[in-house]
Amino acid sequence: MRIENEIQPALFMTLAHASSALKKYFGYDRFRPLQAEIIQTVYDKKDALVLMPTGGGKSICYQIPAITMDGVAVIVSPLIALMKDQVEGLSENGIPAAYINSTLTPEQTRNVENALLAGYVKLLYVSPEKLVSQGFQPLLKRLKISLFAVDEAHCISAWGHDFRPEYTQLRFLKEQFPDVPMLALTATADKLTRKDIVDQLQLRDPVWFVASFDRPNIKLTVRPGQRRFEQIVDFLKQHPNQSGIIYCLARKTCEELAEKLNARGFRAAHYHAEVPPAQRSKTQEDFINDRTPIICATIAFGMGIDKSNVRFVIHYNLPRNLEGYYQEVGRCGRDGLPAEALLFFSYQDVMVYRDMIEQGEASPEQKALKVAKLERMYQFAEAPVCRRKTVLFYFGEPYDRSCGNCDVCLNPPRQFDGTVAAQKALSAILRTGEKVGMNLLIDILRGSRRQEVIENNFHQIKTYGAGKEYAYDDWLFLLSQMLHTGLIEIAYDAQNQLRVTEEGRKVLFEGKKVPLAMPQPKAAKPGEKGRLPHIPEKSKSQLLKEDLFNRLVALRRSIAQQQGVPPYLIFNDATLDDMADKRPLTDADILQVSGVGERKLQLYGDAFIGEIRRFVLEKKDEGARVTGSSQLVTWELFKKGHTLNEIAEMRQISAQSVTTHLAQMYERGETLDLDRWVSPEECDIIQGALPLFEEPYQMKAIYEHFNERYNYDKIRFAIADARRARK
Ligand code: ADP
Ligand code: ZN
Repeated sequence: MRIENEIQPALFMTLAHASSALKKYFGYDRFRPLQAEIIQTVYDKKDALVLMPTGGGKSICYQIPAITMDGVAVIVSPLIALMKDQVEGLSENGIPAAYINSTLTPEQTRNVENALLAGYVKLLYVSPEKLVSQGFQPLLKRLKISLFAVDEAHCISAWGHDFRPEYTQLRFLKEQFPDVPMLALTATADKLTRKDIVDQLQLRDPVWFVASFDRPNIKLTVRPGQRRFEQIVDFLKQHPNQSGIIYCLARKTCEELAEKLNARGFRAAHYHAEVPPAQRSKTQEDFINDRTPIICATIAFGMGIDKSNVRFVIHYNLPRNLEGYYQEVGRCGRDGLPAEALLFFSYQDVMVYRDMIEQGEASPEQKALKVAKLERMYQFAEAPVCRRKTVLFYFGEPYDRSCGNCDVCLNPPRQFDGTVAAQKALSAILRTGEKVGMNLLIDILRGSRRQEVIENNFHQIKTYGAGKEYAYDDWLFLLSQMLHTGLIEIAYDAQNQLRVTEEGRKVLFEGKKVPLAMPQPKAAKPGEKGRLPHIPEKSKSQLLKEDLFNRLVALRRSIAQQQGVPPYLIFNDATLDDMADKRPLTDADILQVSGVGERKLQLYGDAFIGEIRRFVLEKKDEGARVTGSSQLVTWELFKKGHTLNEIAEMRQISAQSVTTHLAQMYERGETLDLDRWVSPEECDIIQGALPLFEEPYQMKAIYEHFNERYNYDKIRFAIADARRARK
């Protein structure tokens, strides 16, 4: 397969070429921020450093130049598992790409080499090991290379995580190919690493592109870590059939959690470094192919996964630092559709990490750095400040508004005089002899009749039931502030019992004032502990759309199974979402859907349009009002060979409506013999007059313009033909 040179006058590449390739091959209408600028830089044969968050759209930045420029683009990627996916994804879009790495047999490698030398390949993915190996050099020299792209470029830096020694040898590329433009791309924000990338790759006077690290479609939520299993079950019930990752610190937790979730009827699997490799790759495959929606994993999972429709990431345990948190969170919602990140916060985790750091091998400075990062992490979880603001600020990006899509913004806390509330809690702690943990304390304050309360005679103490005015969650929130401001402590060495500090005693015995914050009152129904907020009712059109979306997902799954490719490579969720919105009924319609390029139209257009048509007709039969359905019914009858009069009769509509419907379908790209209504000459004459009128055209005005010479049908079809040509 060879890319046709329609968009390739090779000498001078402009953004117009880039845009038309974006539409043709990827089905996207416009570039995301910075993509066009980066592509222009490559066209100008300059080097660039590209910093973009995961899901920001880095691949397009080298794929579009690769497609439009002469020669082959060489993409260095450390993740062998991803190469196959990427190459398959490109092939699905009709772009000839290949990879060379250690997984290929010598024969396969030879085939790729031959294709390369014959000029059939536009993008070559290669592992760094392969690229720097002696055996590879002769081939490299014989190729006409359009550009180098070094993906995951942070692997070059010993400062960052994921350091890959082979990456440091990549400097030879610039030495041997000084005139080939090079893009270095990474999602890592760290300043030291950025500088290292430029130095080590020997980029020449590179242009820096730093995209915003904001991922506005991801809702950020932090919840207290108590009863997290029940909270997770609630969350999953609200996200049925969605894919997500639950990150846990310990391998055992992964296993137990997956098992418990399965017992509750969810499909979950576990993944960590000690799972045998074969099982690990099966788990990963099942996740990618939407067979297992939920993976309980240690952070080992996710690096090599490009799945675009991960809808949520849950942190069962607190991440060690904000870099890790944000990177893991970034694995959901790559397709730009709404996604959720839910973090459970507990002090226990903080203490565990502290110990791990203290007992670790690192130097005192490194330990101090780790502790400082950990502190920033839990301040993030604890401070009642917009989460997005906090995390972006940490990465050095100013963000001077509130995001409206995090738990703090959606339910902002209000300050109040919390002295009385604090006194109730402190008094209860002392009256139990400092023998209770947080859960039990809240139960006592709220007057629970739970067995543990009664057995210990805690229902006899004076403060029993004294805190009923606050819901369970509210108490958690208040107590965590008391903890943070040093009124109480947790005895981690004694079953996490709460202790009252000196500061706390001042509040209790000297009436020292305590300002506290409280989320805005949310209708806290009695008995509804730790529940997530309820979702509002859905409108009819939303339900209709969801219904169609689910059918498209099912169709995608069955096609994917037949073809043995991951479903998201056929169309991602964002594309199906747009399709469910636009309900395309013809080829021309479906090309308007974001993510449907020419190749995908060829491959899957009929199947998806067919499904949507069936859906529309069914819904109409059920009495739903679906735009476009009436035209479609007329059209289907017409195609079955019924005359216009018969159709009008059968449908109880006017003859004029029938022709209107047919004209509309013609305008949307269906084939019709126009001559039946209007001759080519008449069509030309009518269309010639159209510029005198404005859209939407008034048929009567046009009819009168021509002194009634052309009947309404002629005018209708001439207009449809003009509009069709414009699309
Ligand atoms: P990254 O490599 O930065 O993590 P990707 O290149 O995988 O991100 O892109 C993330 C998603 O966004 C992909 O599904 C991709 O097809 C989509 N995407 C990229 N650019 C555009 C665009 N201009 N318009 C619409 N979707 C885009
Ligand atoms: Zn916010």
